[in-house]
Amino acid sequence: MSKTGVLIIGGGIAGIQAALDVADQGVKAYLVERTPSVGGHMAMLDKTFPTLDCSACILTPKMVDVGRHPKVELLTYSEVREAKSNESGFEVKILKKPRYIDVSRCTGCGVCARYCPIEVVDDFNAGIGFRKAIYVPFPQAVPLKYTIDENHCIKCELCKRVCESIGAEAVNLDQEPEEVSLNVGAIIVATGYKPFDAQRKKAYGYGKYPNVLTALELERLLSAAGPTAGHILRRSDGSIPKRIAFVQCVGSRDLHHGYPYCSRVCCMYAIKDSILLKEHVQGVDVTIFYMDVRTYGKGFEELYQRAEKEFGVHFKRGRVARIYETPENHNLIVRAEDTETGEILEEEFDMVVLSVGLAPPDEITELSKILDVPLDEYGYIKEADIKTDIISTKVQGIFVAGTALSPKDVPDSVSEASAAAMKAVTFLRRRK
Ligand code: FAD
Ligand code: SF4
Ligand code: SF4
Ligand code: SF4
Repeated sequence: MSKTGVLIIGGGIAGIQAALDVADQGVKAYLVERTPSVGGHMAMLDKTFPTLDCSACILTPKMVDVGRHPKVELLTYSEVREAKSNESGFEVKILKKPRYIDVSRCTGCGVCARYCPIEVVDDFNAGIGFRKAIYVPFPQAVPLKYTIDENHCIKCELCKRVCESIGAEAVNLDQEPEEVSLNVGAIIVATGYKPFDAQRKKAYGYGKYPNVLTALELERLLSAAGPTAGHILRRSDGSIPKRIAFVQCVGSRDLHHGYPYCSRVCCMYAIKDSILLKEHVQGVDVTIFYMDVRTYGKGFEELYQRAEKEFGVHFKRGRVARIYETPENHNLIVRAEDTETGEILEEEFDMVVLSVGLAPPDEITELSKILDVPLDEYGYIKEADIKTDIISTKVQGIFVAGTALSPKDVPDSVSEASAAAMKAVTFLRRRK
């Protein structure tokens, strides 16, 4: 039990950074992540704008640091179930879900997964490809400990026998959930976002036409560690697409089928991905259908200019009304109004990428009730003051960082995380 620690909820890049900054000030940080590994959405990205650096090369060292820091306690595969405020802070109850693995014995060797007969659609690869019922979400996972997915496991015990045969004896199919009680002085909410559900935008045919994909799916295709080892292939026939379109503002700036706000990252990630496509697929033609190109950050406008002038990406100003499929070859016709000329355009492509916006995660509603922290009109955590204090919430001692607050990119998420860590530690010291 600690009365001076800080609880960080959400182990994406914002939560990781907040935990590291709290811990570096000599204060105990408890990092709670609901999935089996820290990393969040950044772990799914191939490269990051504006420098096109490898995403994992930036994220993995931070994940390793947070896993090893003596002042950080990782509570992965765990969820906050209760938080009561008292004069010294918050009494928190956390549920550690059963992994059915003794993490002190699991070496992460992966032999069990080779023998497991059950294949499950792979969430980490955005639903492209399969993993086993006993799994690590990705090879750089922290902690590198296997988890049994109880929704799909048939309890055949093959993994248990294999694990015993190598002397590890880590599988425990009778493991029970565990409740952990903590008494912390401050809380940082860093629960992130979910990508907009493209099926809500019926006119674009996502889920119906195999060659319409979301940008997150494209990130996994682009990744050398992804399901196609970095090859860009059509879902319909495995062929290499030669004409690819991006449709911008999917679920953002859309009062009817999405959210009215701008998601801030999708212009830049489409520009980034269009350059990466040019590098991956020889001779590919890439067109971005946009309403406005929003390149507001340091080095952003320069990358936009490079995409157009150096790489020959086409930018067409037009809101896409519909996408049709030509059933015989699964090609796609994009119908858009060119908002510069008023002309209706119809163009054929081999693949269409939907630049989905960012939305608040579903679980945030329950968490906001547990913490008694209000949400804004869209479902993000509401800041204390939108002009002067976006890191604090309406509840004293509870702070927020990253996309749990509003859509933003990695650099802004990390800056807010450092600010939240500083505020939480200052709050703790004042309270003491
Ligand atoms: P997340 O990455 O969403 O992490 C939140 C974490 O909290 C997750 O691990 C989640 O499991 C966990 N969590 C949620 N609820 C709970 C709970 N109740 N309890 C415990 N844990 C919980 N940005 C860039 O800067 N450069 C790019 O090139 C770039 N490309 C992108 C491409 C695409 C297609 C998309 C969709 C986004 C891109 N972004 C990019 C944006 C980037 O993904 C975000 O800025 C960044 O991931 C935000 O980090 P976060 O920690 O706030 O949230
Ligand atoms: Fe290896 Fe056993 Fe862990 Fe599977 S459960 S990764 S076999 S130690
Ligand atoms: Fe896979 Fe479950 Fe069988 Fe283990 S017990 S091998 S996880 S199906
Ligand atoms: Fe649309 Fe670009 Fe804003 Fe995303 S960042 S919502 S694509 S204008």
